Amino acid sequence: MIDKAMLQRTIFNKFFIIFIAALLFEGCATVKGPQVSSLEEEKAKREIQVRSLQNWVKDVQRSAAVIYNIRKKIPSKDSFGFSGIIGICLTEMKPEYREICEILTSRSLPKTGYLLLPVPGGPAEKAGIKLYDIALEAPPDRLKPNENVIVKLVDRAVEFPAEGVGVKLNKMAIVSADEVNAFVDASKNLYITNNLLKFVSDNDQLAVIIGHELAHIERGHIEKRMGVGLLAGILTGVAEAIITSGRGSGDLSRLVTQVVVSKFSRDQEREADYFGLKYAYLAGYDIEKGSDVWLDLGSGAPASLTKSLLSSHPTSSERLARLRKIASLLKEGKTWDEFEAK
Ligand SMILES: [Zn+2]
Repeated sequence: MIDKAMLQRTIFNKFFIIFIAALLFEGCATVKGPQVSSLEEEKAKREIQVRSLQNWVKDVQRSAAVIYNIRKKIPSKDSFGFSGIIGICLTEMKPEYREICEILTSRSLPKTGYLLLPVPGGPAEKAGIKLYDIALEAPPDRLKPNENVIVKLVDRAVEFPAEGVGVKLNKMAIVSADEVNAFVDASKNLYITNNLLKFVSDNDQLAVIIGHELAHIERGHIEKRMGVGLLAGILTGVAEAIITSGRGSGDLSRLVTQVVVSKFSRDQEREADYFGLKYAYLAGYDIEKGSDVWLDLGSGAPASLTKSLLSSHPTSSERLARLRKIASLLKEGKTWDEFEAK
């Protein structure tokens, strides 16, 4: 019989030898293929930065379009004027970001003004404002429905009425984070992580998530929330888009490191699931496909990355079962009014 301590020593020695051997092999590795110069490496680095900004623009436009589609159809007590313009402030932009923006937009950018991202399908885009147009002044803020909007671009002025949309939403931001998450804070700001957008491949699923978050605002949960949680350190965004009811300004160099997140009760979560699904349905999304987001999030995403999104009760299985049941009862002819009748 080998005693335990001796066995441990033997195992340790073996691992120690393997470890030393691994280090030696590492040291002996020879570089195959051509060498790259620091200039070539710098060029590749710039290419990665441009791609990352391009992805961020896509994420912002995709999320903003889903939010807009839902707000447009949401039955709401109040209506807010929406111009559909997101503006990135050029005045505050750091030189290194300006350079990346100039490569992406293939134009030289002025020192002041706003680089515009029109919300796809929104009023500004319909009025002829194009992606990467430059506005001389900040996009309009706090509009009333049908209020006249005049956007002064570098080469022309565009005029159109603001559209009436439901749900008060202060701003929306896409944040760079490992977490697969979307959440609202106490100031009615909606945050979506870029990792959630990577994970949620179709917009039917995204609409169910965004509908849920907007329902927390619309159903008054922010005012009656159970508490606040601090989501610290995980959000190290390189880029942030801010959309108010029309105005936008974003400082591409801002780092989001701490966000105070609203914590809701189990029943508030259930209510947000139900109304979120209804909003997504009214906006024309396929809620049967969209409900699968809980199947995918419950099964596919690493647990550590969905902790905040899934830890709020009820469980993802209850959510999935309930949302699927609503979708199938609707198909059989049941109406939202019947669901909501006491
Ligand atoms: Zn929630």
